Amino acid sequence: MLNIRYELTKTPKAKPQDETKLGFGHIFTDHMFVMDYITGKGWHDARIVPYEDFRISPAAMCLHYGQTVFEGLKAYRTASGDIQFFRPIENFKRMNVSNDRLVIPRIDEQDCLQALHALVEVDKDWVPHTDGASLYIRPFIISVDPFLGVKPADHYMFFIILSPSGAYYETGLNPVSIYVESKYVRAVRGGMGFAKTGGNYAASLIGQDEAHKQNYSQVLWLDGVEQKYIEEVGAMNIMFVIDGEVVTPMLQGSILPGITRKSALDVCRAKGIPVSERRITIQEVADAYDNGKLSEVFGTGTAAVISPVGHLKWNDKVMTINNNEIGPISQMLYDTMTGIQWGKIEDTFGWVEKL
Ligand SMILES: *Cc1c(COP(=O)(O)O)cnc(C)c1O
Repeated sequence: MLNIRYELTKTPKAKPQDETKLGFGHIFTDHMFVMDYITGKGWHDARIVPYEDFRISPAAMCLHYGQTVFEGLKAYRTASGDIQFFRPIENFKRMNVSNDRLVIPRIDEQDCLQALHALVEVDKDWVPHTDGASLYIRPFIISVDPFLGVKPADHYMFFIILSPSGAYYETGLNPVSIYVESKYVRAVRGGMGFAKTGGNYAASLIGQDEAHKQNYSQVLWLDGVEQKYIEEVGAMNIMFVIDGEVVTPMLQGSILPGITRKSALDVCRAKGIPVSERRITIQEVADAYDNGKLSEVFGTGTAAVISPVGHLKWNDKVMTINNNEIGPISQMLYDTMTGIQWGKIEDTFGWVEKL
């Protein structure tokens, strides 16, 4: 158990007036959770303090060598006004997987869960009331020792910040267009693709930029060795429905093990839809498309939950998936998962945790 010290703000901010205009990641609540780690002392000084800028040295190690990890999850307000989380312990478990890769000290997952509940309790009035809107939660760790040598740090800070965010799809589930990147790669096996760490996203920006120039909204990454095998989208895992089977790349260390991915596969299994986690080439997807066997493509991630793909561009080939409309499996997964998250349908999986 953490002994959390509270220093509450004396100048609370006005809450957003129009929850339909929240957007994503612009607005922050009144408080944040912070704790420090020092070698020999461990994690200590857990505190909930006003959300504000903080000071670190210009030589802070995270700024130079990127020793950072983060997580992303949401709090949902149900129709009865209760607040709930979706599998939050999974985020802290995954944070420890990222920590191990980045040589950041492990966190106590139960302590972090306690911190999450305590912080959201303090700022609970910031959890949006509008259908589809939610409170986005960003836990992260940075190394802060003022030192320019390359080595694991001795002083880290763990934060949780909260950002009320709007419905991902303001006008219903709209298919996205995706550009298959065949020049740059995001991660390689043995690298840190499976960790949620800033460097992976820095490496991905150039592909995102190229996609936008060509009027595509997101990038589908191929493997870093042969550029043949499908990996994942910028911040989503990807699934294909081929011949009635849901096929998704297996976890081999270069893609992020999404909690939405894992949950969507479980929902499919529970509904009797065959699933396969295996290696899949972009050529196989193109062939399935040509043979009329590719019926749906969708991304999975906390932000959008399920994101149907309407167009997929690989070099000169543009594939229009399911007439640029949402397919039945995508729709079922979206309805089931958002139904559980917002408490609209029964959670038979035991995934929801009440505040
Ligand atoms: C966070 C993330 C995902 C999705 O993970 P969820 O746990 O489902 O939100 C997928 N890919 C990348 C690269 C990510 O950063």
